[in-house]
Amino acid sequence: MATKVVKSSFSASKEDIDKLFACNRIAAMIWNASLEISKSYALANGGKWISKSGLYKALKNLYPLHSQSVQMVADKYLDARDAAHAAILKGYKNKYPWRRKKNFNTQWKDKAFSFDFEKNVLSLSLGIWDGKRQQGICLKLPKNIMAKINEIMSLNKDAISQIELCYDNGLMLCIIYDDGKQSPENIGFPETVGVDLGEIHSIAACATNGNSIIITGRKLRSINRLRNKTLASISKAQAKCTKGSRRWKKLQRKKRYILSKSKHQVAYKTHEITKNFVDWCLENKVGKVFCGNPEGVQRNTSGRKKKNRTKNKKKIRNRKTSQKLSNWNFGKIKDCLKYKLANVGIEFEGISEAYSSQTCPICGQRHKTNSRNYKCSCGYHAHRDVHGAHNILSLGLNGHFDKVCDFEKQKTKYLRLAA
Ligand SMILES: [Zn+2]
Repeated sequence: MATKVVKSSFSASKEDIDKLFACNRIAAMIWNASLEISKSYALANGGKWISKSGLYKALKNLYPLHSQSVQMVADKYLDARDAAHAAILKGYKNKYPWRRKKNFNTQWKDKAFSFDFEKNVLSLSLGIWDGKRQQGICLKLPKNIMAKINEIMSLNKDAISQIELCYDNGLMLCIIYDDGKQSPENIGFPETVGVDLGEIHSIAACATNGNSIIITGRKLRSINRLRNKTLASISKAQAKCTKGSRRWKKLQRKKRYILSKSKHQVAYKTHEITKNFVDWCLENKVGKVFCGNPEGVQRNTSGRKKKNRTKNKKKIRNRKTSQKLSNWNFGKIKDCLKYKLANVGIEFEGISEAYSSQTCPICGQRHKTNSRNYKCSCGYHAHRDVHGAHNILSLGLNGHFDKVCDFEKQKTKYLRLAA
């Protein structure tokens, strides 16, 4: 089943709003306590890690939140710790969670919330404190959201698994549910596709039937550019006034607004790009997708530091390229792809894309290209990005670069998504 989210605004009394802010502060205290408890446990036990039940026990009955909400903060800490551990084992320089927080999103699980569809009200429970059941929090939700929730719950009354209080330029609720649709088993479509994610061409893909597609996300880049430009000008204005002054605060609010707005724009574009790609896959009867992992790219964005130049004589990126690379949110596109493909039963596999853009699939020579076309001395030539996607496809299927299909003889479909 696929997990989905409805994000909603709400209204509540001043008292309840204050309580919600307090919840997020308490959740942060639980996070901070999790850091300390784990650290002292490891020190006392020769580096051994605290278990899930051990951490639950250490946090029990200490905070005026629902016991499940407390456990969910602990779960987040444990997930972060385990993810960092996995990354370190893979050789990345990740850090274990260490940062203390002032606010943390509170979550409520199935037993800690209830809906009243007549009054359009959501009640959040704060559990038992000092032997007494605390008064819960009542939030009024918009009618259309309540109608949607009613619809979801009429199919399956346990569909909504959790509710998260988050901050996005104001308090918001994320209502997380299972849509009840069984994700189709691999429907066994015959074709396979290689995907190359790029900055200018968000997605370039090549299928075993020789069809190829390029979906451009120029708009995605312009959102990021405009955001950075505006943020820079705000920072400049802020530098001229006293930190914490009224004008400074006003500018700070503007900054947050712009960040939130651009985040939504990027999310929408990402959704649009990936949806178009999935539609193309279905049209072409694709059963499996190999996607290049441009791992090295984002991790090396600090390449313009001086000491790096002397150490490994790497070419120093200018500021423009650095900005391009760190804004290139292929991670989001990839996550979105993965989930959308799974929903229609298409298999997804990430593979290394080392040298895929440089190697000639006919003669195996490597050379770089600066133009839109890749040309080799052996006579092979193709559009640079489709060439990269084809090489990823070949690597996924055969483990080496080879000619899989005559993609360069067929017309590439171009999709330029409008603003
Ligand atoms: Zn060649």
